[in-house]
Amino acid sequence: MPDDAPFPPPRLGEPYLLTPGPLTSAAAVKVAMLRDWGSWDGDFRAMTRELRTGVLALLGSGGAAYDCVPMQGSGSYLVEAMIGTLLPRDGKLLVLANGAYGLRAAETTRRIGRAVTVLDKGDYRPPRGDEVARILAQDPDITHVLAIHCETSSGILNPVAEIADAVAAAGRKLLIDSMSAFGALSLAPSEVPFEAFVSSANKCIEGVPGFGFLVARRDALRAAEGRAHSLALDAHAQWAYMEKTGQWRFTPPTHVVAAFLEALRMHRAEGGVAGRGARYARNRDVLVAGMRGLGFATLLPDRWMSPIIVTFFCPADPRFHFARFYEAMKARGFILYPGKLTAVDSFRIGCIGHIDDAVMRAVVAAVDDALTEMGVTSAAPPEAALAERSLAETL
Ligand SMILES: *Cc1c(COP(=O)(O)O)cnc(C)c1O
Repeated sequence: MPDDAPFPPPRLGEPYLLTPGPLTSAAAVKVAMLRDWGSWDGDFRAMTRELRTGVLALLGSGGAAYDCVPMQGSGSYLVEAMIGTLLPRDGKLLVLANGAYGLRAAETTRRIGRAVTVLDKGDYRPPRGDEVARILAQDPDITHVLAIHCETSSGILNPVAEIADAVAAAGRKLLIDSMSAFGALSLAPSEVPFEAFVSSANKCIEGVPGFGFLVARRDALRAAEGRAHSLALDAHAQWAYMEKTGQWRFTPPTHVVAAFLEALRMHRAEGGVAGRGARYARNRDVLVAGMRGLGFATLLPDRWMSPIIVTFFCPADPRFHFARFYEAMKARGFILYPGKLTAVDSFRIGCIGHIDDAVMRAVVAAVDDALTEMGVTSAAPPEAALAERSLAETL
């Protein structure tokens, strides 16, 4: 077994991925993939069982009513499977959007021909419980609400607890895209009542990409037979077949499952959700303090900042060019997460993956170095960014 402790420097040719999945995975997670498994064989069926119970064990109190259905594909496949399987054909979904993933969920619902309405809060404003309550009171046709736990496009941590309370008080059902949060932020059904959520192997559990999982109330899964729009994305069919045979319906990503089980073991060894969340919060705090020290400003005020990924405004200095900055950071061993989010240019740095605060200090030093190389003397954002920022402060 390779030695993963503490956090090794990047090996030559393998930079740290400061991206929200795929991300930097531990050597032991990669090594776990170095053999083959037969998908029908008892050994792999035991691995599938371990995966499902391992995910459910992270739920905390109130989790006994839920089951875990892993499915092949990236996170978006799971979002589509959840909506197509759990939203009745005559149901109506309210999507709470404040970024790319919320908008994608709404588009997914439209594409599969289900009724959908969207509360679009723009790029970074959080949907609040009282707004949700108002919309639900006005539209009795809405049966389900979909919230994004951490909207990875800005890094905002949405207030899912107050949203869940509003949805439950109105007698509707809550679906959560917890793709980039589950495993690092608690999601106990006793605190946040939900019908189902989805996440994937390559985010806070720190596995590699290849499958995701739906965690849903068993009664909701039972009621969903024959409802899905798609054969491959029918989560009820996958669940029923897995319950009966212990197997996945179609070819499973065997190696990815093996990597995931190792990642789950490391997650447990770190102290579970609390331990993982604490390391990510330290990563974020070191990163944000260091970047602010260099003169950078964050898009979000501290109150809404997740420990998953942080958005920084690009400096106003005309010598700053993001493409050059990206290459300069890559040359120093760090891959950033680009993306134009608001009217003002910004970039994102992920805090998740097999990295610690020492890595984050090295990131800040590399940023300082890269700015010097580019001749950038101030990392301060343009006035327009500060105007946006003060708008965000008033949320
Ligand atoms: C990663 C992610 C997804 C899924 O994206 P894929 O590229 O399909 O894996 C969905 N929602 C959120 C919030 C995410 O962070």
